[in-house]
Amino acid sequence: MKQTMSERIFNFSAGPAVIPLPVLEEAQRHLVALPGTGMSVLELSHRSKQFGEILEQAESGLRQLLNLPNNYQVLFLQGGASLQFSMVPMNLLPPEGSADYIVTGSWSQKAVKEAKRVGTVNIAATTEATNFSHIPQQDELKLDQRAAYVHLTTNNTIFGTQWQALPEVEAIPLVVDASSDILSRPIAIDKYALIYAGAQKNIGPSGVTLVIIRDDLLERIPDGLHTMLDYRTHVKNNSLYNTPNTFGIYIIHLVCQWLQEKGGLTAMQAENEAKAKLLYDAIDASDFYRGHADVQSRSLMNVTFRLPSEDLDKKFIRESTAAGLDGLKGHRSVGGLRASIYNAFPRQGVEALVSFMREFERQHG
Ligand SMILES: *Cc1c(COP(=O)(O)O)cnc(C)c1O
Repeated sequence: MKQTMSERIFNFSAGPAVIPLPVLEEAQRHLVALPGTGMSVLELSHRSKQFGEILEQAESGLRQLLNLPNNYQVLFLQGGASLQFSMVPMNLLPPEGSADYIVTGSWSQKAVKEAKRVGTVNIAATTEATNFSHIPQQDELKLDQRAAYVHLTTNNTIFGTQWQALPEVEAIPLVVDASSDILSRPIAIDKYALIYAGAQKNIGPSGVTLVIIRDDLLERIPDGLHTMLDYRTHVKNNSLYNTPNTFGIYIIHLVCQWLQEKGGLTAMQAENEAKAKLLYDAIDASDFYRGHADVQSRSLMNVTFRLPSEDLDKKFIRESTAAGLDGLKGHRSVGGLRASIYNAFPRQGVEALVSFMREFERQHG
């Protein structure tokens, strides 16, 4: 194997996505021999004392950043956020009960599909009629106070919308898919019963799924589930029932350290707002670019927009890719472009995209 590229380009991919450079460098420095172990973290037994410490540090990093009280458990699972579409209802939706789902995009739809296999799903709201360009208002929600839980997607990675504030759900336990905006801003943890997130957008590499679950939900889990699909297995075994993604958990630990050094989630939110503003201001300042999401529903993480024609979209993608701005092609269900600008995405990359947009409009507008 030879080195083929020494310069990093700007990676706007929706996921797997950019990882903080200091994290990659630290992992590289210690890849062959992790200090104190004489072996690579890739070779380290998940039952070893040293890996135990890494797991402990990843968990405590997340606990500090998210301000998690002791009645929330932190699990590092596999199967992606997609397996949680099944695990959530299998564990929490009783056969005679029902669950509320708020549908704001393709990921919510996939969550509904799996929940329907388990029990009754009440669609509390869907914004499909406007191709998921907005987040529903409180008065659009038809919540059932007897629902086992209400499920929503905090940030719609594909459509570029994000809940700016959580809906009022009263006593219904709130379950969220936060795959694409977890750790991007502080959260009021007491509003949540369960949070899950695939790691590959804002926490680390693919292959780890973070699940944060409040203790009282564990008591509702029916007996008889397959062992690996029962949250209690992973709580009891501290995410070590089977072999976890050890390398992924190690990277998550480093990402948490990086976030703490940057000032935690409050500082991250300020940075994310500033980065997104640069892009949205550029979109709003021109008639050439049009955003997909309604202004009040705009995501700080995934910025979706289009040009006056599909041909120009394609040309933009081709030329921006050649200019070192990679991964801007929008998801096929929305078309156009999507700039994913997660925590680790550098501000200089957003500035580079904004100048590219200005120049492109000057040539083609
Ligand atoms: C990417 C994504 C998923 C799917 O995650 P996998 O880890 O690939 O299963 C689910 N929900 C949201 C919001 C996502 O962004």
